[in-house]
Amino acid sequence: MKILISADMEGATGVTWPADCEPGTEQWRRCRGMFTSDVNAAIGGLFEGGATEVLVNEAHSTMRNLLLEELDERATMITGRHKELSMVEGVQAGDVDGIVFLGYHCGAGEDGVLAHTYLPNAITGVWLGGQPASEGYLNAAVVAEYGTPVILVTGDDRACEDAGSYAPFARTVAVKDHVSRYAARCRPPARTAADIREAAEKAMLLAGRLEPPPPAERAMEIEVDSAQLAQAAAMVPGVTRTGTRRVRYTSPNAYEMIRAFKAVCTLISSSMENDYG
Ligand SMILES: [Zn+2]
Repeated sequence: MKILISADMEGATGVTWPADCEPGTEQWRRCRGMFTSDVNAAIGGLFEGGATEVLVNEAHSTMRNLLLEELDERATMITGRHKELSMVEGVQAGDVDGIVFLGYHCGAGEDGVLAHTYLPNAITGVWLGGQPASEGYLNAAVVAEYGTPVILVTGDDRACEDAGSYAPFARTVAVKDHVSRYAARCRPPARTAADIREAAEKAMLLAGRLEPPPPAERAMEIEVDSAQLAQAAAMVPGVTRTGTRRVRYTSPNAYEMIRAFKAVCTLISSSMENDYG
């Protein structure tokens, strides 16, 4: 049984503040250890539950946050940016029996710790097929096309609630409880590690390749926080501007959906100005 861990940082133990997960800051250096602790706890539990192979895919920012030198030596890790499937790179091999969304968070516009969807602030809402779509929601649609079930989600309590919208049978571990977008009631890593380990072991009962659903054409709608960002996004072929701060496109499957979304995000990122956004 091969398991993939998609490891994001905003939903890791102890992380509540932008600098906690912004590469290069003092707080980020400190929080890398707690993030690595969460991942090691998941790896340990997965092997105890019957996994034979665990691949970790770094999914946050520069995608160079976890401490490889402290990683459980039974696992391997994809580190660094520019990957075909970004946060769920590795699933396209077609041999992944289950995926863990570790350190995940609520989507843009939601009231969760460090809530956002891909871009910290510029994107204010995303809807897939008319449903509010967090990163977990979008990535779950992608991995479903490869027959891979989401077996475990960790993050703040709001991220665990959000998992109910895309993986209702998955195990969840709330490593912290939401107080505000930048505050949470946190438990020390030793305690969250024990919970993650136990949940990961049990989550292995949910692992096993599923029949992939037939490709479904769905509309993607994205709202941004200023007009020129919608203008920039609409430069991607097939993306149309439907309002001052809104764009829309349809994709024949989730693979195309997520790749077009990455293109939209890249254009938006390059169209922001200091202070004004
Ligand atoms: Zn992130």
